Amino acid sequence: MGSDRSPHKFPKFANVEDERRHRKQRLAAAFRIFGAFGFDEGTAGHITARDPELTDHFWVNPLGMNFKHIRVKDLLLVNHEGEVVEGDWPLNKAAFVIHSQIHAARPEVVAAAHSHSVHGKAWSTLRRPLDPLTQDACAFYGDHAVFDDYTGAVFEIEEGKRIADALGDRKAAILANHGILTVGRSVDEAAWWFVTLERTCQVQLLAEAAGSPVLIDPDQAEKTAAQVGGSGTGWFQAQPLFDWILGEQPGLLDE
Ligand SMILES: [Zn+2]
Repeated sequence: MGSDRSPHKFPKFANVEDERRHRKQRLAAAFRIFGAFGFDEGTAGHITARDPELTDHFWVNPLGMNFKHIRVKDLLLVNHEGEVVEGDWPLNKAAFVIHSQIHAARPEVVAAAHSHSVHGKAWSTLRRPLDPLTQDACAFYGDHAVFDDYTGAVFEIEEGKRIADALGDRKAAILANHGILTVGRSVDEAAWWFVTLERTCQVQLLAEAAGSPVLIDPDQAEKTAAQVGGSGTGWFQAQPLFDWILGEQPGLLDE
């Protein structure tokens, strides 16, 4: 989680209120990052953060609010029944059915991210796992799933369950003909895996369009995965993006 001299330290909290505030701040910041990267498509896309006290509740974006406008005070708190218990805007039904099942199946997962980003969506039509083509791609080596059972927009709890089952204990899933999804032990980590998964899809699309890319051999891919694919590394990799967005757009912290 950074060297002793790094200004970036994984945060520790004296109480649950401070932890909740931090999670909400990172969640609002993650939406601004997704907005800046163009990961939105109309009203699609959601990132959730589990509440640190009410652990079967999560914080999520209001349906229809531009990612670039989201502030801490706009976030919705949703219970395990899919009811909005804090916030005024409507909830994206798909956000509830997918994310509630992932948060329930993976108690260590604090955050999950999904959107219809272009390269993830394009790659998802191939219904194949990504190859270890680059050092960055190795973060997903043996650690992402392909959910290849597309049956329309996700509005049923049953389908959310099937996505959570396909994800298993991995950090990411490619949802066929739909988009990509990532999880993490922090909002920062889930957001980082999303950013780098989207770019990994882009790189493989580019490389295959240009020729016949050479894969990193399995032993090296496995070794590299251990070096670049850990939860703490994912958190640390996200810090420059969060520093940038919080510096540029401090208004996102309004609560
Ligand atoms: Zn979707």
